[in-house]
Amino acid sequence: MATSEELHKRRVEAVARGVGSTIPAYVDRAGGGTITDVDGREWIDFAAGIAVTNVGNSAPRVVEAVRAQVERFTHTCFMVAPYESYVAVCEQLNALTPGGFGKRSALFNSGAEAVENAVKIARHATGRPAVVVFDHAYHGRTNLTMALTAKNMPYKHRFGPFAGEVYRVPMSYPLRDGGLDGATAAARSIEMIEKQVGAENVAALLIEPIQGEGGFVVPAEGFLPALREWATAAGVVFVADEIQTGFCRTGDWFACEHEGVEPDLITLAKGIAGGLPLAAVTGRAELMDAVHVGGLGGTYGGNPIACAAALASIETMRELDLAAAARRIGAVMGERLRAIAAGDPRVAEVRGRGAMLAVEIVVPGTLTPDPAATAAISAACHAAGLLTLTCGTYGNVLRFLPPLVISDDELGRGLDILAAAFG
Ligand SMILES: *Cc1c(COP(=O)(O)O)cnc(C)c1O
Repeated sequence: MATSEELHKRRVEAVARGVGSTIPAYVDRAGGGTITDVDGREWIDFAAGIAVTNVGNSAPRVVEAVRAQVERFTHTCFMVAPYESYVAVCEQLNALTPGGFGKRSALFNSGAEAVENAVKIARHATGRPAVVVFDHAYHGRTNLTMALTAKNMPYKHRFGPFAGEVYRVPMSYPLRDGGLDGATAAARSIEMIEKQVGAENVAALLIEPIQGEGGFVVPAEGFLPALREWATAAGVVFVADEIQTGFCRTGDWFACEHEGVEPDLITLAKGIAGGLPLAAVTGRAELMDAVHVGGLGGTYGGNPIACAAALASIETMRELDLAAAARRIGAVMGERLRAIAAGDPRVAEVRGRGAMLAVEIVVPGTLTPDPAATAAISAACHAAGLLTLTCGTYGNVLRFLPPLVISDDELGRGLDILAAAFG
């Protein structure tokens, strides 16, 4: 077998430079809480392929379901010749997502595609053009979703012009907004929408209940419910982007549940199918069904193998109670992170929920972001066999997203490496 070094040489000659990788090691196999490269080196996995393999890599039920499906048929296109598993995934999503009202779902391939379709549905149903998004938001890399995403480098730089009718308002970011309470922070955002856009022009308010790429920003309590209430009164479609937070990651099936928020539409992807590409928009039947027949779809959306994997993943989450596992991981990890923070003035804050935790790194005694220190700590983790990710508008947040099936031993070893990397 080729070594990681050999593969890296081939990659540089074959793969576009714009596609980066966190570690230069090439994967041979992965499962539970570890990834092993072609040289036999093992990493504790605190990334889960960016919150995708919540049920673990090659989860037994997923492997079995994929194998069975791939032998029956691989693709017919649901828009041409439909099949049961697509319908069954939609039934599961309608039942699992918050809100007791009638729902419908549509399936797509990627998170960005789900977000694009949520915007299409909201615009179609309301007849309004504008979409409101937040500072630090991340919604994808397609043209519309680049416009919705806040951060220039690396996501938007020189990729414009971008889609129009996108308006950005302040996020509740307690560490950096002087600790504004949720209601006050929401009032500030709402006033900006009403004065600068006009509520009657707004089709959708799109928000991540806990921001992902933007820095694992957890809004102050009350922020999401206040926005939800305003959207209802203003006839604005409230869209929760749960692509990173969904599927047990934060200790509930969906992060919105924490404050009892019921979105009109939810976008889903990442953790949905144990690593196979699948995404969804789930929401109120009257909004989803407003769109004419043939108005939604795509060649691969709801591919039968991905649907089989999703059904097996959801079953795994239910049987292993991975929401409870996420809360347990969060308790163990949170305690260790707070101990690190207590002894290291570079850590401005430990935040997140469940198995979606992060630390924000600053110049001690200030709130000045320190992306260089963040990168150095991350590199020390990688060198010592722990796969961590960074995020944040300022590149100064270390985020931790272990698979929810990580063992106590693997979690403990990962946290030991992390503590040592802080020095
Ligand atoms: C990853 C992500 C997306 C984009 O999903 P892709 O599958 O990469 O297109 C959108 N929104 C959020 C919150 C994400 O974390």
